[in-house]
Amino acid sequence: MRLRRMTARRSSVHGKGLFALQPIAAGDRLIEYKGKVTSWRRAAARQRSDVGHTFAFGLSNGRVIDGSRGGNSARFLNHACSPNCEAIEVGDRVFIHALAAIKPGDELFIDYGLAVDGEITDDIRAQYACRCGASNCRRSMLRNAE
Ligand SMILES: [Zn+2]
Repeated sequence: MRLRRMTARRSSVHGKGLFALQPIAAGDRLIEYKGKVTSWRRAAARQRSDVGHTFAFGLSNGRVIDGSRGGNSARFLNHACSPNCEAIEVGDRVFIHALAAIKPGDELFIDYGLAVDGEITDDIRAQYACRCGASNCRRSMLRNAE
């Protein structure tokens, strides 16, 4: 039996997070980010009613994978501005890879990199505020929030 490499549990950053259970080497493929591909606006509208938890991953084509619909535990990945994991798009699928060696107990992060079309209202800004605490924190999970 393969050892479980990750588990979802309470995070100090936001809600639940995904944590390493085993040592992970840089470059390892960890999990597929599953969910329904939709527009970010649709995902945002849906998640507003979901007590502020963001389960969304931005694709390079401006669409979003909504991990709250048909998603797996990858949806618990929190955003950080200096993440230890990255998402690699392969066709229309997304896989999470480690960017660095990760120790058991470390929380796994990706950069959501959400690209917002249209005006960014204060409401949207607030919903996607980042509190990762990195020295280079953009204060936002959005790619184009400035
Ligand atoms: Zn941040």
